[in-house]
Amino acid sequence: MNTEQVIGIIALMGKRMEQEKEFLTDLDNAIADGDHGINMARGFAAVEAKIAPLGDKDIGTVLKTAGMTLVSAVGGSAGPLYGTAFMRSGVVMNGKTEMNIADLTACLKASVEGVMQRGKAVKGEKTMLDSMIPALEAIENGINGGLDSKDAVLCGVKAAREGVEYTKTIAATKGRASYIGERSIGHQDPGATSFTYLLEVIADAL
Ligand code: ADP
Ligand code: MG
Repeated sequence: MNTEQVIGIIALMGKRMEQEKEFLTDLDNAIADGDHGINMARGFAAVEAKIAPLGDKDIGTVLKTAGMTLVSAVGGSAGPLYGTAFMRSGVVMNGKTEMNIADLTACLKASVEGVMQRGKAVKGEKTMLDSMIPALEAIENGINGGLDSKDAVLCGVKAAREGVEYTKTIAATKGRASYIGERSIGHQDPGATSFTYLLEVIADAL
């Protein structure tokens, strides 16, 4: 993928967030404050406007700009957390105008590390990490096992979806949903769900 294609994929992520806005907000409403869909749609709309003119820049610049925009345009936790993921990915892609599956995997790894640090969270706390970490592992295993990029990312999507199912079985110990603790069991995590959609958009694009 080149810079223009990365910009195109991020625009498609924005469209998907707009489509899923109500559903994500309903999920967040069940266990927290009901703004996740609104946050994601608003954040990605701001990102799309900021990165549209950056087609002649390197991919690192696009991802860093996207990350900074998410941090500043979205209140709450998901904006700064996804913002950190994009900014860390931007560091990985610094100066590069082409992105391959090894780069994508490196970006995802840097994103997981960034979210873990910023959110002070680990796997099993009913957060976006519960889809991100399994997805990263599945993609790495797929590549190591000789799958092509698209099939490896599809393995990642499957693992992310399973991660979302897993979040239904556990209580939140991080984020606003942790305020209701055990009563969050039975509900899927909004952030784990939105991450799965973002990865689906990447898989479709490949
Ligand atoms: P807020 O919680 O501020 O209302 P959002 O509703 O947009 O923000 O995002 C909520 C999502 O953010 C949760 O579903 C969860 O996946 C993720 N999240 C919240 N806190 C953390 C954290 N400390 N670490 C990782 N992810 C988190
Ligand atoms: Mg919320």
